[in-house]
Amino acid sequence: MSASGNIEIVRATGEVRRRVAGWHAEGLSVGLVPTMGAIHEGHLALVRAAAAGSDRVVASLFVNPKQFAPGEDYSAYPRDEGRDAGLIADAGGDLLFAPSGEGVYPDGFSTSVAVQGLTEGLCGAFRPGHFEGVATVVAKLFNMVRADAAWFGEKDFQQLQVIRRLARDLDLGVEVHGVPTVRESDGLALSSRNVYLSAAERMAAPTLNRALLALADRAAEPDADIARAIREAERTIAEAGFGTVDYVAVVDRETLRPVEAPITEEARALAAAWLGKARLIDNVPVVPRGT
Ligand code: AMP
Repeated sequence: MSASGNIEIVRATGEVRRRVAGWHAEGLSVGLVPTMGAIHEGHLALVRAAAAGSDRVVASLFVNPKQFAPGEDYSAYPRDEGRDAGLIADAGGDLLFAPSGEGVYPDGFSTSVAVQGLTEGLCGAFRPGHFEGVATVVAKLFNMVRADAAWFGEKDFQQLQVIRRLARDLDLGVEVHGVPTVRESDGLALSSRNVYLSAAERMAAPTLNRALLALADRAAEPDADIARAIREAERTIAEAGFGTVDYVAVVDRETLRPVEAPITEEARALAAAWLGKARLIDNVPVVPRGT
């Protein structure tokens, strides 16, 4: 991917608000796409969806220190604002909001937003403080930008459900939309962290998706043994060369609690596993037979 387009980059909250208020005064709707940069086709799908669903699109770029658990890759996280800006412009972004660390978390910042329940299982169990960091920064970005709607990827399915709940619980006034996961041709979900994979790891990486698709297929059977299908998925992932498998689960889409057969409503199969230095996550729908 090469970047060519131009987009205005705004850093101050007052300035992004002035721009958004100006568009609102013209009767235009404004969509927001929050990102941490290292833009790839997954992010661009969100920008395109936002451009299709609103008159103006603000993308934000902020590597949020609060959502990295201790020991995670905050300092190593890939950063290239110039390239990101060009790609977002080409995909239909109208403004890039790239606040500074102090702009988001000024000295003395002491507020934290915690969404209970939904954040306890799955990734929440392995990344202490992660979803509190996500909920806090998303609440803050929504208040800074004051867009009408925001687009998030299904690739981070638990995050998407946490943000939907956050927006609803706190009446943030932002409509939250999910966008299907963009994948490489071999099924690997695009992720900024895929750059950490060696050539051999990259070959093994699509097994995560394949194992989830096989699990979803089996879990959809009315007489499925879901616990056993999960164990087999874990084994498949481990045998492909992954290290620790943090979890494989089949859950209700709203509550994120494990479901049992027979599944009567669409559920979700999710997994997280380490491959070398990268922690990969993925998820797929589980569609009950006959619906
Ligand atoms: P990030 O920059 O990784 O925090 O991601 C910013 C947004 O892009 C989040 O809403 C992610 O869910 C979304 N996203 C990341 N990867 C993908 C992908 N492969 N397909 C669709 N959306 C994605």
